[in-house]
Amino acid sequence: MSSTSRPPSQPRFPDASDEFASAPPDEPLLSEAEGAPRSHALFERARQLMPGGVNSPVRAFGAVGGTPRFMARGEGAFLFDEDGRRYIDFVGSWGPLIHGHAPAFVHEKVKAQLDRGASFGAPTALEVEMAEIVCRAVPSIQMVRMVNSGTEAVMGALRAARGFTGRSKIVKFAGCYHGHADALLVQAGSGAMTMGVPDSAGVTRAQTQDTVVCDFNDTQGTRQALRALGPELACVAVEPLPANMGLVPPRAGFLEMLREETQRSGAVLLFDEVMTGFRQSFGGFQQVIGITPDATTLGKIIGGGFPVGAYGGSRAMMECVAPSGPVYQAGTLSGNPIAMTAGLATLQALDAASYKYLERLGARLEDGLRAAVEESQAEVQLHRVGSMWTLFFSAQPVTDYASAKTCDTQRFGKYFHAMLQRGVYLPPSQFEAAFLSLAHTEAHVDAFVQASREALRELSS
Ligand SMILES: *Cc1c(COP(=O)(O)O)cnc(C)c1O
Repeated sequence: MSSTSRPPSQPRFPDASDEFASAPPDEPLLSEAEGAPRSHALFERARQLMPGGVNSPVRAFGAVGGTPRFMARGEGAFLFDEDGRRYIDFVGSWGPLIHGHAPAFVHEKVKAQLDRGASFGAPTALEVEMAEIVCRAVPSIQMVRMVNSGTEAVMGALRAARGFTGRSKIVKFAGCYHGHADALLVQAGSGAMTMGVPDSAGVTRAQTQDTVVCDFNDTQGTRQALRALGPELACVAVEPLPANMGLVPPRAGFLEMLREETQRSGAVLLFDEVMTGFRQSFGGFQQVIGITPDATTLGKIIGGGFPVGAYGGSRAMMECVAPSGPVYQAGTLSGNPIAMTAGLATLQALDAASYKYLERLGARLEDGLRAAVEESQAEVQLHRVGSMWTLFFSAQPVTDYASAKTCDTQRFGKYFHAMLQRGVYLPPSQFEAAFLSLAHTEAHVDAFVQASREALRELSS
């Protein structure tokens, strides 16, 4: 009998797990070209037409080598590539697919909405429903504005924070990702604080001169930086549970310090929960840790797999946004009925049992993976929080951007490919989190653990 049973409220994907449980355990391991001829051919065409052959960089497998798999279909916990190979997927479109691929109870509603129209450019009841759910769920959000991506959400939130405070400086943390807005495409050099040096070509010094970068988990250094900025500081932007340098949990006291210091100086504390919102709990990571910021950005899960983002915060700050106030921000397709329908259906199917199930599955995965690590004596650090995890190929603790960079990315690449060959699809970069969904079962987790045991053994031999 399984101890981790699917919550009864959870819609079931017919026979995904049963089919998997009866699948032959070891398909022959194929070389890159043998295993993926159609992906190879598509990648060749794509590279002539799109930068790197992709529409978002990490998809190109640049960090792990080899040919990206071109995906043809998703179903529950599985992805199927153009060559007909099946993978247990632990990427979940980088977070949005908390119910797994193509959940019928979401897609039925999207199809019905399509028959009524894809976009009106006028207010809809769906947007009101979405705003009600978000404002009720997320402690810091009294009012919300829907946009089309996490990047847009952060841009809007920063502008609102600056408009609201009348100040200009922003603090971000090395290794935290907030989308590709110019002002936040900055990392740190060494030291507790580095004045904004542009990190991407095409971003000018002027665009980042008001951005100050601190080190995540550096409570003392950051406190000093915030105090030095004093009344110039408009906003501290942080992933409260960073997952874009791999998963790096906050140290006790770090986020509390940010809350304390921003309250002191009158700056806006922005939690970027584009990834963790509705993933770590229905109220986001802020609910888990009991710290309420002034503003929050959302995305990913709230779009149910469709392009979406949202930012919200106190009524006072959000009333600064047009047309209520002077901070301009708009969007042709913002709050469009398709994304709203998919997002609503996704959120309405989440309850306390969902998060309990994900935690139990996550704990099972962590236990199994730790045992596999011990067996192989691999020098790794395993971080897991709820349904997210990262296996860092580093001998030293990973607590921030600098320590994350000590990882042996070559070894990660080997692990990644050993897993891919065993039918497990992981994020193709050391510096990302992997995800469980409600479509995963114990059988999928156990298959992942078994594949990891073999992969790690292969690495150590
Ligand atoms: C994914 C992500 C973003 C960017 O969202 P896009 O929809 O890709 O623009 C911003 N912040 C965090 C924390 C994210 O994980």
